[in-house]
Amino acid sequence: MVRRNVGSALIGLIAVVTVAIERPVHAQTQPGTNTGLPTVVVLATGGTIAGAAGSDVQAAYKSGQVGVDQLLAAVPQTKKLATLRGEQVANIGSQDMNDEVWLKLARRVNELAAMKDVSGIVITHGTDTIEETAYFLNLVVKTRKPIVMTAAMRPSTALSADGPLNFFNAVAVAANKDAAGRGVLVVVNDWIHGASSLTKTSTTAVQTFLSPLSGLIGSVAYGGVEFYRGPVGRHTTESEFSLDGVAALPRVDVIMAYENMDGVLIDAAVAAGAKGVVIAGVGNGNMTASAVNALAKHAKAGVVCVRASRVVTGRVGRNVEVDDDKLGLVASLDLNPQKARVLLRLALLKQRTNTELQRLFEEY
Ligand code: ASP
Repeated sequence: MVRRNVGSALIGLIAVVTVAIERPVHAQTQPGTNTGLPTVVVLATGGTIAGAAGSDVQAAYKSGQVGVDQLLAAVPQTKKLATLRGEQVANIGSQDMNDEVWLKLARRVNELAAMKDVSGIVITHGTDTIEETAYFLNLVVKTRKPIVMTAAMRPSTALSADGPLNFFNAVAVAANKDAAGRGVLVVVNDWIHGASSLTKTSTTAVQTFLSPLSGLIGSVAYGGVEFYRGPVGRHTTESEFSLDGVAALPRVDVIMAYENMDGVLIDAAVAAGAKGVVIAGVGNGNMTASAVNALAKHAKAGVVCVRASRVVTGRVGRNVEVDDDKLGLVASLDLNPQKARVLLRLALLKQRTNTELQRLFEEY
């Protein structure tokens, strides 16, 4: 399955009506119509959904203050949808997300998904890096069972906290049979995103996540689930990546391009041990001639250098204004810099040619 660009710059509401492009499915399920309730395991990692503030109307708060049992107890309405079991994997703000938690989480998801009595998994997470964790799991989790991540922009103590309904909707999606085989999904603010497509677009607004390039997988309103299409890109059981025997992931750094950029930060990343460098380029993955020269120098020495974009939507194409073929660079295509970094870290677990690496960006 090759990634497809359905049209550039589809944002906001337009994304909701994006037409089905792969495995068109249109299924609606209302809560409470299940006969035997499925078992859904909740893996909590922290974030604002588990955050607390000193008052209900203050901006300052701390992520990861509420444990999984409190989280479950706060939304008893989920009992209509599924039998829930909770596990605390971590309790951190997702700005502190790290490889240790990633590996632990991925391995636990694989274990749980292999259990006969588990129908689906919900993972609560902070919004800051949920897109990276979702994409990572999407590549290394081996199951067709629903894996649904959710988060909140407002802490649990806030006026109009968004966490409880997001959690309720995530459980509804995880308990829904039609969610199977769609890879890791992210449910926030009534929308169901694919792991490869979503990105955080607002620092504070509840409506922060968009899937600007390829659109939504579906929507969910008070537990009523509607799917529009399958995700873009290979995932889970179709993914060639695995964490078997993996103790650590290689270092890959992301460096943003800007006016008058030189090669100093690129050199520093390589000196610090980066096996790969992703440039969050201007426009179509562009950067100054000095930065291109630095990148080409390291590419020649075997560091994988990927051009992505700091622009929120649009594809970074090969050989547009930069001669990737000649310089030995890789184009990120539909992946934003933070997701390009995730894919590259997994790709670098094996020795690969640039042609192979470019194929991975085409397919995932
Ligand atoms: N800093 C928080 C986190 O990512 C923000 C949030 O969850 O909305 O954990």
